[in-house]
Amino acid sequence: MWSLALNCPYCGYHDSRVIDSRDVNEGIRRRRQCLSCEARFTTYERLQPASLFVIKKDRRREEFDRDKLLTGIRHACEKRPLAGDAVERLVDEIEAELYRLGGTEVASATIGDMVMARLKKLDHIAYIRFASVYREFADITMLKEAVDTLADHATVNSADQLPLIPPEEIRAVTNTARKVR
Ligand SMILES: [Zn+2]
Repeated sequence: MWSLALNCPYCGYHDSRVIDSRDVNEGIRRRRQCLSCEARFTTYERLQPASLFVIKKDRRREEFDRDKLLTGIRHACEKRPLAGDAVERLVDEIEAELYRLGGTEVASATIGDMVMARLKKLDHIAYIRFASVYREFADITMLKEAVDTLADHATVNSADQLPLIPPEEIRAVTNTARKVR
């Protein structure tokens, strides 16, 4: 199914002609011209999955919910210095990857790992926050392990990464991790 939001953003007219089309990130970008006011605008048409079910740890099945994923990641990224659309883009990427897998079911752990891999590159604090909820850190040892993997990672990827976690942030995250149980 194609998502279509093609009304002219200037006058609301329902029809337009396509000036140019190109494939971008799992969708098509189209330059359009309104048939009424002749304004030009761009649409992004994305492929939506028919339906995708997430299999939880306890084997319950629930329909994939983009908003729920978005909320979880937003929560982890709260007050982090990220671009306004960084979380949206991250969720877009994950959705695209899920479509590429092509199945009708996916383990919640698979989605969790996709999020973790991306947050690790995006923001260390958000990564630790998400991990503490998702991995259900039972104690400080598990948290330390997660922080240690970041320290290893940081030595090879420092150019676009934030400085390694300041102590007060580690304390904050530790408190979060304690609250999980
Ligand atoms: Zn128009």
